[in-house]
Amino acid sequence: MALIVQKFGGSSVADARRIMAAAQRAVDAKRAGNQVVMVISARGDKTDELIDLAKQIGDHPAPREMDMLLATGEQESVALVAMAIQALGEPAISLTGYQIGIQTDSTFTKARIQRIHTERMRRLLADGNIVVAAGFQGIDEDFNITTLGRGGSDTTATALAAVLEAQVCEIYTDVDGIYTTDPRLIKTARKMNRIAYDEMLELTSLGGGKMHSRSIEFAKKYRVPLLVRPAYSSGEGTLIAPYENDDVPMVTGVALVKSEAIVNLRNLPDRPGVLAALFGKMGERKIPIDMVIQDVAEGGIAEVSFTVPQDDLAEALTAAQHAVRQLGAGEVHHGTNVAKVSVVGAGMRTHTGVAAQMFKSLSDAGVNIQMITTSEIKISVLVNRDQKEAALQAVHDGFTLHQERSAPPTIGYRQAHGDVKTHVSRDELERDVVSRLASMEDIVVSEVQLDIEQSRVTVRHVADQPGVAAEVFGAVAEGGVMVDLIVQNISHDTHADLSFTVPRGDLESCLLLLRELIERWPGAELSYEKEIAMISVMGIGLRSHTGVGERMFRALATAGVNVQMVNTSEIRISVVVGPNDAAKANTALLSTFGLKN
Ligand code: ASP
Ligand code: MG
Repeated sequence: MALIVQKFGGSSVADARRIMAAAQRAVDAKRAGNQVVMVISARGDKTDELIDLAKQIGDHPAPREMDMLLATGEQESVALVAMAIQALGEPAISLTGYQIGIQTDSTFTKARIQRIHTERMRRLLADGNIVVAAGFQGIDEDFNITTLGRGGSDTTATALAAVLEAQVCEIYTDVDGIYTTDPRLIKTARKMNRIAYDEMLELTSLGGGKMHSRSIEFAKKYRVPLLVRPAYSSGEGTLIAPYENDDVPMVTGVALVKSEAIVNLRNLPDRPGVLAALFGKMGERKIPIDMVIQDVAEGGIAEVSFTVPQDDLAEALTAAQHAVRQLGAGEVHHGTNVAKVSVVGAGMRTHTGVAAQMFKSLSDAGVNIQMITTSEIKISVLVNRDQKEAALQAVHDGFTLHQERSAPPTIGYRQAHGDVKTHVSRDELERDVVSRLASMEDIVVSEVQLDIEQSRVTVRHVADQPGVAAEVFGAVAEGGVMVDLIVQNISHDTHADLSFTVPRGDLESCLLLLRELIERWPGAELSYEKEIAMISVMGIGLRSHTGVGERMFRALATAGVNVQMVNTSEIRISVVVGPNDAAKANTALLSTFGLKN
């Protein structure tokens, strides 16, 4: 008998009629011969209302009491859903997080799951019950009620599906599935039938999907297929699971994060330990930092930028000040009027021209790029907030994402030559690490990749205006060069600097192409370093686990490694180091994350 987990979000249980519809889904699945566990969120806007109420009483409610309060939302809805199932003639029983035995740590309002006891659920299922579990909540060691962070019911559902080894975890929502971009902003957005875990992970934290990213981390870790489907229609939804054949799309989606803020640290010393101090201070406050960038230092002075959600800015600035004080040098600046646009697609791993196409689309729409970061399957740019919709539309159109089979990029598009990195072993490694996990949500770093065949190219003092990145990467792509890590830091005058890595064998041709190009740009300078090494830490949920960056940079600092460039994404943190530091950096990281060579 198959076991299915069905999760219903707040809007899908908002009133009695919808509760009956949700109950009917579970009853149908049970009558079709399955065991069914439902995971339910608080009704409608209940959680928001409770938060509002608490704020009316005081500005800083105690987090423990917040969790006590918020957990009531789910307790109400599970009871109602169980009653509805019973009214439809099937046995059902509702359970709170406590009654299921979801044990978490004591980080109130953002607790992490440590253990789940399944005996009681299994017994109830075996007796023919539909189990109706409260999402979003658990208890800590002292029996305090905790919650998992906003949207945490997705995490509960995926975690239950993992421990119960469910055949599928169905996520019922008020949307038809996952779209290529936000359909409220872009009319031509298209629902996808399938998307891979990595792509979804890169999209979620970027605001592209509606799902809680930790729930996708879980699904990936335990190979749980997630089916996001509409609650009120028979739509097939979108399956989040690995691609079955080689039919990997080039670009899957474009995401927008509307209100980002930039923290920019200037005049930092260019020596080991700077990033460790910074990540340490952010980690202490659990501030999820994103788009971390360090470009090649100039004159012994380094500069680091990162983005945080606008709401976390004040706290991030305080933490940054503390880091600067600890280092004894540096200044903290910030900027607020920015938004982030990201393109995600698994096909980028093996094809050139994707970055060039994105930058070209932006430039044609007159959008200036303020900052760039990349991962293997994602390119993110920071743009002026006033241009966010125009930017999103331009990129969506540029990749013809409204079509089922979107067209390949028009600039220099081809399969990369030479050794394309293969990732066959990553699954195995991940499984290996997972099997050693003591607690379910521990940080998972599955792999440290060392690439010593890379060179770094930097184009300095180019005009900070639309079209420059498009020209640079267009020229490189036309030459068939596969660009990997791209970094553009925020500019504080009218000029910008761009750095990126290329396979060493392509360096000469890349330089030729660029020399020709920048001759036309007065003041622009081209520099390069033939022998550099790029080291990446790969894993799941690197952004939601602020501790990974901290451990990574502390390990590098302790080993005396100077980091030249940094670039981060949800599933990868990459650094560029000098050739003499490569081996010791690699060893330090492998041992820090308990991985074998
Ligand atoms: N009720 C909680 C929230 O609104 C959890 C959830 O809906 O997943 O964030
Ligand atoms: Mg909700």
